[in-house]
Amino acid sequence: MKYEITVTKTTAPKQKPTDEKSLGFGRIFTDHMFLMDYSDKEGWHNGRIVPFGMIPTHPASTVFHYGAEIFEGMKAYRTANGDIQLFRPMENVKRFNNSAARLCLPQLDEEGCLNAISTLVELEKDWVPHSEGTSLYIRPFMYGNDPHLGVHAVANATFAIICSPVGAYYKEGINPVKIAIEEEDVRAVRGGTGYAKCGGNYAASLRAGQKAEQNGFTQVLWLDGVERKYIEEVGSMNVMFKLGETIVTPALTGSVLPGITRKSCIDLLKAWGYTVEERLFSVDELIAAAENGTLKEAWGTGTAAVVSPIGKLYYNGVTHVVTDNQIGALTQKLYDELTSIQWGKKEDVFGWTYKVCNG
Ligand SMILES: *Cc1c(COP(=O)(O)O)cnc(C)c1O
Repeated sequence: MKYEITVTKTTAPKQKPTDEKSLGFGRIFTDHMFLMDYSDKEGWHNGRIVPFGMIPTHPASTVFHYGAEIFEGMKAYRTANGDIQLFRPMENVKRFNNSAARLCLPQLDEEGCLNAISTLVELEKDWVPHSEGTSLYIRPFMYGNDPHLGVHAVANATFAIICSPVGAYYKEGINPVKIAIEEEDVRAVRGGTGYAKCGGNYAASLRAGQKAEQNGFTQVLWLDGVERKYIEEVGSMNVMFKLGETIVTPALTGSVLPGITRKSCIDLLKAWGYTVEERLFSVDELIAAAENGTLKEAWGTGTAAVVSPIGKLYYNGVTHVVTDNQIGALTQKLYDELTSIQWGKKEDVFGWTYKVCNG
């Protein structure tokens, strides 16, 4: 079921960035945004595309006080012939609804949600940059809007989508990152909100990220919140390890975010004949593998970077070097394969791409 969408075009279109090398991430926004309101009485209503701008919000809104907010992150890619396509967008839509269910926010009709995304992207298609590795980042989000301070499941919400042209994640080749294993703060616990893509998880993770940065690391590697023993994620990416010829990645126990890049890497690895183990993987097992040489490669997976090789792992006062601090062959192969599919350079045998419009 598609939602009805009214379109009000801006009368003052912005100048599009001319230097695609300095786009960065999430600093520039397109001319329009999508908004739709929800109330218990009316359901979803007033779907609209309007000029990009401020969203007036009641000061007592649930989002400000109790963190009722969820989001998604996906990209629109321009293929060689100019067409605009998305990558597995229905996966984002389904995950958005799973996040909404966890936070007591209203469900969206799947087809309606995807149509809202495509309609906005098509209107903004000239904002999808052209240079190698660039894309239009799409940020759907939803927040509770009840204009009073009582604590309960929300009765009013807003669903919004904004878009931002983003630069190539890797400008000068892929550089392996330096990761600190976090031993104090935890990101999530089973039964909590770890599997939901919600703002609160990020708010709680900022301190460890800041500490890691101050100590010269790029990201933290999170351990489970109960025993601080099992590996969960790296920063805001899922994480994978090549041990000998086997790939190991933390199982989706409820505190790990079910990444779409993770899922796609698993599908590719299996198609290439690798054994992929989704299981509990302890930090002790990881460090032992680093010390005895069975740890061949380690990498994070996520929409922004696709894959991010881990070159150094710091734990308990010791820095372990992985793959001689170079990008591993399998990490590179995953990166090449996924980016080729996303930017339409290679046949999409899995049927993962979704065409929005001609260029
Ligand atoms: C979004 C996200 C990921 C990666 O998910 P993708 O669907 O691959 O982009 C991993 N971990 C966290 C915490 C995230 O928020």
